[in-house]
Amino acid sequence: MEFCPACKAYMKRDVASGDAAVHVVFVCQICGNKKEGVDSDTLWFGGSSEEGAERSEIIIERASHDLAGKHVSFDCECGRKYATLVRIGKSAITRYVCKCGVIRDATFTIIGHN
Ligand SMILES: [Zn+2]
Ligand SMILES: [Zn+2]
Repeated sequence: MEFCPACKAYMKRDVASGDAAVHVVFVCQICGNKKEGVDSDTLWFGGSSEEGAERSEIIIERASHDLAGKHVSFDCECGRKYATLVRIGKSAITRYVCKCGVIRDATFTIIGHN
């Protein structure tokens, strides 16, 4: 919950759509003051645009090097027998990434390459 810095009133959570993401903004109900949500409030739609895809890939890049990432059994073209399950953003979009860089969606369809 956010409060207006000017009049201390409760700020309503709202969204401002961008090309690649929905940016969360907080709007004061009294004076109309707007405050950008922090990064973690931002919901990304992976792959819906180049910027979004790029951002998602950065997250995936980090996730693919994270040893805590959950491995799922999968035969990749590169010969590896597993892919790393990652969930992107608050909407937890499912992506599978292989160390070779191939990114797949929830149905294992290739959607990109790092
Ligand atoms: Zn205000
Ligand atoms: Zn692979």
